[in-house]
Amino acid sequence: MSNHYDVIVIGAGPGGLACATKLAGYGKKVVLVEKADIGGTCLNRGCVPTKTLMHTADLYRTLKEDTECGLCIEGVSIDYASLKNKKEEVVSKLKDASSKGLKALKVTVLNGEATVIEPGKVVVKTENEDVELTSDAIVIATGSLPAIPPIEGVDIPTVITSDEILSQVPSFDELIIIGGGVIGMEFASLYNSLGTKVTVLEGLPRILSTMDKEISSSLSLSLKKKGVTIVTDALVSKINQEQGKTTCTYTAKNKTETISAQAVLLAVGRKVNLNSVLNPLPELDRGRAIVDDNMMSSIPGIYVIGDAAAGYPQLAHAASAQGEKVAAVLAGIPYTTDLHLVPGCVYTQPEIASVGMSEQEAKDKGLNVHVGKVPTTGNAKSVLSGDERGFIKVIADETGTLLGAQLFCSRATDMVGEFAVAIGNKLNEKQVASIIRPHPTYEESIKDALEASIKKNK
Ligand code: NAD
Repeated sequence: MSNHYDVIVIGAGPGGLACATKLAGYGKKVVLVEKADIGGTCLNRGCVPTKTLMHTADLYRTLKEDTECGLCIEGVSIDYASLKNKKEEVVSKLKDASSKGLKALKVTVLNGEATVIEPGKVVVKTENEDVELTSDAIVIATGSLPAIPPIEGVDIPTVITSDEILSQVPSFDELIIIGGGVIGMEFASLYNSLGTKVTVLEGLPRILSTMDKEISSSLSLSLKKKGVTIVTDALVSKINQEQGKTTCTYTAKNKTETISAQAVLLAVGRKVNLNSVLNPLPELDRGRAIVDDNMMSSIPGIYVIGDAAAGYPQLAHAASAQGEKVAAVLAGIPYTTDLHLVPGCVYTQPEIASVGMSEQEAKDKGLNVHVGKVPTTGNAKSVLSGDERGFIKVIADETGTLLGAQLFCSRATDMVGEFAVAIGNKLNEKQVASIIRPHPTYEESIKDALEASIKKNK
């Protein structure tokens, strides 16, 4: 069998999978190399397992706390072993579906660790031998790993990352989370729902610091009400083990404090390691490859997509779209999706979603914008579901063209797509508001927010 392919794709996460399957659909001869499991971080150690656990955690909270919903179930408890089984079943079903899809499209899947020797040449270390592959193009979709901060004591076994939590599904009475970004806040919300006493230590003045300010303050308030302790401007200097507990020493507001818990979760970002995949390296920006509009790195013929590509959010759906784009480029097929219009979702309770510009970003660009904002307290579906107070905010320019939206409410992550379609197609607030939405639904609040925005534009 010839070891020459049209394209070698390295990494079978959402980016690599999308790229390989699209290429095969376009009639290209593709090999997909993966050193671990099909599905990458998203399916095995990220989005899918986290959201599976959250589904159960949300049910648990509702059954325990929503005493007004008419259900009376005594003695509800979490069976962590069953929860872990459930998570594994979900991951395995989705992995099988991906493998079947690759097989149907005749994508060659090679298990092993790939190293790019030179453009067009890759060596794969498999269990039994080293296999040399050649190709016309190489796509690197090798993702990222949890970053480990340079804090004394991070090597203590009870100091863990999201990888260990999602693999073992442990129960905690108390958990300290270092980092109040997306991963930190999702795990804070998840374990708070499961009944754990959670403390978040964030180094910056606010949690979710890259998101709209009102979103961070609303989430902070909501979680604090539910018993989560959030300390901002916290500088963690040391972690150690004392009397069977893990202790964090940190300084905040010029005071040094120590807190203890069963475990400490590190959620301080993710690091990319392209060194292990190719040498010499292409041009990098903080470890991530600088790419052109076609996702090609500074080395001709080597494309980089997903978390390892600089200038894009580290999100599964961003990686998939980039993979589709590279496939289209290599097959000579037009691709029109805007890779920079990427909805961001945070699966906390309530959910958070945003797309396009925030009010601040628009103002920083010198745009003349107006904002329509409505609370969800008047939305029938929110009231009948017993949801806590949320809001939807839309940003439009003086012509009414929608520029951005931020949602803090139930089903925010499902509803943000409507705004993405509108912004991507440069629709204005009147066009989007003019559509009849079913009653009673959460999405009626979208129309309310748009109408508030139209009023502001008069
Ligand atoms: P992040 O960059 O979103 O947040 C890390 C946080 O840790 C920041 O707020 C930072 O200020 C803080 N921090 C860093 N060092 C610290 C220290 N020593 N002490 C205290 N705080 C410290 O990173 P993340 O939350 O680890 O997420 C990683 C990536 O994965 C992000 O790009 C994120 O978008 C992505 N992700 C997305 C989703 C989702 O879309 N739902 C879910 C999980 C992860």
